[in-house]
Amino acid sequence: MRNELKGRFAPSPSGRMHLGNIFTALMSWLSVKSRGGKWLLRIEDLDPQRSKYEYARLIEDDLRWLGLDWDEGGLDNIGPDGPYSQSQRGNLYAEALDRLIASGDTFPCYCTRAEIMATQAPHQSDGRVVYPGTCRNLISHPDRKPSIRLKVTDEQIAFTDLIAGHHSYNLARECGDFILKRADGAWAYQLAVVVDDAAMGVTEVMRGNDLLLSAAQQIWLYRRLGLSAPTFAHLPLICNSAGQRLSKRDASLSMEALRKIHSPESLVGLTAHLAGLTATPDPIPAKDLIPLFSHQPLKTTHLIQLSAKLL
Ligand code: GLU
Repeated sequence: MRNELKGRFAPSPSGRMHLGNIFTALMSWLSVKSRGGKWLLRIEDLDPQRSKYEYARLIEDDLRWLGLDWDEGGLDNIGPDGPYSQSQRGNLYAEALDRLIASGDTFPCYCTRAEIMATQAPHQSDGRVVYPGTCRNLISHPDRKPSIRLKVTDEQIAFTDLIAGHHSYNLARECGDFILKRADGAWAYQLAVVVDDAAMGVTEVMRGNDLLLSAAQQIWLYRRLGLSAPTFAHLPLICNSAGQRLSKRDASLSMEALRKIHSPESLVGLTAHLAGLTATPDPIPAKDLIPLFSHQPLKTTHLIQLSAKLL
């Protein structure tokens, strides 16, 4: 049945998972399992330089160790809508791109990153880059290979997120026309994720709230492709005790280190407590959290700052 509840976890296999990834995986698993839904594992290995098969294998091993089993997807391509690794799905992205090109929604862009950066306001401090529209009306540039961009319009894209609440973005102001295929031929995340979530029947997309603007870009793409968008549920971000977003630099919070000092139940218990699902950080198996899960405590904060004593 196509309209069953289906969530997904879509890690990029560019390193070992850390506590932030575990938090996302556990919450999205619980969110669908607590309502009788299915959970899918998709390997987002679009970036050939950074993605490694070995990391995908370790992600699967870490998920199994945590007790988070998937109903569909993974390296073994379980299910009807595979393959479930993005590196093997280029034909589907090409088809979607052809449709967008045919409807006049795209244009080739010959700008280099340096050229785009030179057009940005000097004091823009949040790291956001807004494409200035340079190539919208340019026909060709003989010595360069183009990227392909999707046109956006000057209008608000509004949506209600299951956790983060109401959000509205004007894509023309927030990011400008965005990339679907890079000049080196690599598929962009935004196109791949929309094509895949739609083709795999995903109805609930849960991930970190650093991807809220991406949700607006993806809604825009769903509309251009005539597809219906899933429900979005953006989680608070976990920060280290210094208040910074977790990254590969937080080696002590990587699964490699965490598995040395925790049992699966102790790590799951800690993560559930950070999410506000349990009153104490006591060990608990993931499946015992299914009846305890609620989205409610996740709605109360945008950031979860770790205190050193919890780990
Ligand atoms: N592959 C992305 C990441 O690991 C996930 C994006 C998503 O869930 O849409 O950050």
